[in-house]
Amino acid sequence: MNPARLTGPPMRLKLGGEILPMVGHVRMYVCGITPYDVSHLGHASTYVWADAVERVLRWHGHHVTVARNVTDVDEALFAEARRRGESHTMLATLQRAAFEGTMAALQVRPPDLAPSAAQHIGHVVQLAQALLDRDSAYERNGTVYARTAHSAAQAGVDRDAALRLATEYRDHPDDPDKDDPLDVTVWQAADPDDDVSWPSPWGDGRPGWHAECAAMVLALFGSSVDIHCGGGDLAYPHHASEAALAESATGVTPFARSWMRAGIVSVDGAKMAKSTGNLVLVEDLLKEHSPGAIRLMLLNRPWSQPWSFDAAALDDAEATLEQLYAAASSPGMAPGAAAVPATLLDDLDVPRAVHIALEDGGQAARTLIEILALT
Ligand code: ZN
Repeated sequence: MNPARLTGPPMRLKLGGEILPMVGHVRMYVCGITPYDVSHLGHASTYVWADAVERVLRWHGHHVTVARNVTDVDEALFAEARRRGESHTMLATLQRAAFEGTMAALQVRPPDLAPSAAQHIGHVVQLAQALLDRDSAYERNGTVYARTAHSAAQAGVDRDAALRLATEYRDHPDDPDKDDPLDVTVWQAADPDDDVSWPSPWGDGRPGWHAECAAMVLALFGSSVDIHCGGGDLAYPHHASEAALAESATGVTPFARSWMRAGIVSVDGAKMAKSTGNLVLVEDLLKEHSPGAIRLMLLNRPWSQPWSFDAAALDDAEATLEQLYAAASSPGMAPGAAAVPATLLDDLDVPRAVHIALEDGGQAARTLIEILALT
């Protein structure tokens, strides 16, 4: 714990270039995995960054509540379970356990709350009803659609790009029942051959993905959240739609006071995808590298910028970590000990904090290692 935090001037977090004033309690929501397949380095990056901001805030004396959800109601999960001939709940349970094991190995603190979509069906129904009551949604043939077309412009995405992304993320812009192709599904009526559905006032069905996260945030934190984290590819349609749904239902804006989307990780310049066989798995990296080195590789860069993984990046991180350990065992100079935590508050500027820790050594390096769990 930082002894200066009670006597010195209050320290403030800058995130995304802006000061995010916070008093005491901080509410963090992290979009979690859909547990139908292995998780890779791109996922790990998102969760290690969320872990880093949480640890920085805790170190500065904030009480942080983190919710990281599990998207266990999802078409991709159901399809994979059918393909394997397994129950979707068993598949989700096993994949979730594997993911949590990887997170533990990477020293990502377990979330305080781990809601799953299946546990919050009732809250999605409440959200759908709230949107209907406020005329922000309409029902057609048992499906409830929300009027979210405005969210693309709010997210800075032009309509053509939004339509492309809506198709890519299976929001079905070509659904003829929609008033606007960019409206999103809050409640999806079940098909006769659907094996997973729940009852609702509009008939059997299941929640839409964006509505699941919106409902979980509202149910757990009330009408807003301080820091909303997720992968770099979630800005549109997921986060934009989630915010539009919550804000339309509650009338409270902004739904998220800040967004923290970690930069997308590619591999040797190519998109990481199972289909191209270039998935980098954390379990494989852990066979030859320490969790501290993997964390430092993920964190020693600007958090929002996309980057490309290659083996040299991990070797570099390993070498830097050795230098940090050597610096930590030196007597060091006093100023760095306070400068490191202050620098981390400045948009999580890890590269500068590493530089200070190496220059000043001693307590500065020990503090950096402690805050970012680089052991
Ligand atoms: Zn989400």
